[in-house]
Amino acid sequence: MRIDLHTHSSVSDGTDTPTRLVLNAQRAGLDVVALADHDTFDGLAEAQHAGARIGVQVVNAVEMSTKLAGRSVHLLGYGARVDDPELNAELAQIRQSRQGRLAAMAQKLTDLGYPLTEADILAQAMGAPSVGRPHVADAMIAKGYIADRKEAFIRFLDHDGPAYVSRYAADLPRAIELIRRAGGVAVLAHPWGRDNEDVLTVDVIHKLTFDHGLDGIEVDHQDHTMDKRHLLYAMGGRLGLIRTGGSDYHGTGKVNHDLGCNTTRATALREIVNRIRNRGGQPGGLARV
Ligand code: AMP
Ligand code: ZN
Ligand code: FE
Ligand code: FE
Repeated sequence: MRIDLHTHSSVSDGTDTPTRLVLNAQRAGLDVVALADHDTFDGLAEAQHAGARIGVQVVNAVEMSTKLAGRSVHLLGYGARVDDPELNAELAQIRQSRQGRLAAMAQKLTDLGYPLTEADILAQAMGAPSVGRPHVADAMIAKGYIADRKEAFIRFLDHDGPAYVSRYAADLPRAIELIRRAGGVAVLAHPWGRDNEDVLTVDVIHKLTFDHGLDGIEVDHQDHTMDKRHLLYAMGGRLGLIRTGGSDYHGTGKVNHDLGCNTTRATALREIVNRIRNRGGQPGGLARV
């Protein structure tokens, strides 16, 4: 069974619609795919509908923007009830702050000699409820300033870049709690990607697990070297964490990592689904797992 538990659609900063994503998952030979858009559940109904029609099992998920010790940390939530009021209030606050920083980023780029407006960025987002820096990059590509999203991040948009503007993010322990209270399973996304091993140390992950109820860590991810994957896998085993993997696919053409390039074992998915069911969550179309 081929299982990819980390993908994005055009409902946030991916480029495939949820339906197209599920079609592409089938083409890539996946049996199970989780749609984990940034800070929104809005693509899940469409993805579930497509999954039922096409014969791909779709797991309900979200990738939540959180922070710990002033650093950005991404948290995957699987199977949280999509109508949970507290979780939705937090996600709405994050989305609002995502939107709120666009004008400031456009101004910074304009001041740097790359004229851009908030409207230019929103035109690229095409109505996505969750906008992000990749849409700023797309607007710069449309103007001919840069070649691709990667160049935009390296030259302008990374957190230490000249056009970066920060935004609100949920406190990590609180985000774990919100996902669990909504019936979901909380898994740290790419914990040791982009230098985050400085903040998500072994001691911190230990504390998140035993004091705050963290369920798992994403081990197999493109941002982790093989050495990091081996260390994370061993640590996760010692702490009793669920160990997952996923592609972090953002669509074709713009960011080149393919659906299914990293995957999750069936035993790990079964444990996730069991926990979701025990907590009264909504795993999605998983009748055959
Ligand atoms: P934001 O949520 O708006 O702060 O932007 C973060 C998102 O930008 C991530 O989830 C990725 O999708 C994308 N991203 C971050 N760094 C890079 C990079 N170096 N190259 C391409 N995309 C990136
Ligand atoms: Zn993204
Ligand atoms: Fe992420
Ligand atoms: Fe992601």
